[in-house]
Amino acid sequence: MSDQCIFCKIINRQIPSDILHEDELVVAFRDINAQAPVHLLIVPRIHIPNLNELLPEHSAILGHIHLAAKSLANESGLAETGWRLVINCGPDACQSVLHLHVHLLGGRQMSGRMA
Ligand code: AMP
Repeated sequence: MSDQCIFCKIINRQIPSDILHEDELVVAFRDINAQAPVHLLIVPRIHIPNLNELLPEHSAILGHIHLAAKSLANESGLAETGWRLVINCGPDACQSVLHLHVHLLGGRQMSGRMA
């Protein structure tokens, strides 16, 4: 837990959010500024600022995030049409919240360009 971190506050129910899934390792909630019909954020419960700070002992969390993404995509009706995961890391990638998070996007045709 980082005192100033907005995602830690969501995880700890200190600020409201539309939480769709939570378990012992991760929490998933709707992005407040959705860029697609489905735009979810999947975050680890522990405060990892970004992929630059990832350690070998975090590997189970990363695997778990991907399994949660698969379930959430399926529950959101995206399994057939497709979906995208995005992780921004650092200033050039426009990371705005320094708590590792995976964007799950779907529900419309995405651009073929990555950036
Ligand atoms: P990034 O730019 O990759 O760091 O993404 C941060 C995301 O967090 C943005 O898409 C924001 O819209 C989203 N966000 C910021 N504050 C909140 C919040 N309180 N609840 C839900 N999503 C948020």
